[in-house]
Amino acid sequence: MLNKGMLVEKNNKCCINIVKETNNLRQEIQTHDVALAAPWHNKVPLKVSICVWCLFRNRWLTKDNLVRRGIISSDNQLCVSGCGQQETIDHLIIHCNIFGELWKFIKNLIGVYSVDPFQVTDHFNQFVHSSGGYAPRRLFLRLTWLCCTWVI
Ligand SMILES: [Zn+2]
Repeated sequence: MLNKGMLVEKNNKCCINIVKETNNLRQEIQTHDVALAAPWHNKVPLKVSICVWCLFRNRWLTKDNLVRRGIISSDNQLCVSGCGQQETIDHLIIHCNIFGELWKFIKNLIGVYSVDPFQVTDHFNQFVHSSGGYAPRRLFLRLTWLCCTWVI
């Protein structure tokens, strides 16, 4: 049997749990907001940020997206560089033998050594956070990633 004091204590614990869950949810939303805010940088022109914003949402007119929209036939899905692979956003930015060379060059130049992840957003996060938690270096790496993507 619960008396009034035990019931109040149980309600307080329940409220504390709700607050903890709300804080966890808030932290998850903030983490998600980091990905949403990723393309924005005060040193990058707006057109570059919008380009990357579209990239993160797979809105570029890559051949797989054009086939999906019915604009080109599925016979014409090969990469524009002539590498012989299917053209997707992940292929163009990371895995293409031609365009992907830029990342190898940049990584060697700034001393970042890592295996490339499969997806573009993971590539961005890995590249930006490869230096650890030092904020000015993260900003520099973010700027570098945005500029490289614009070049591609
Ligand atoms: Zn290619």
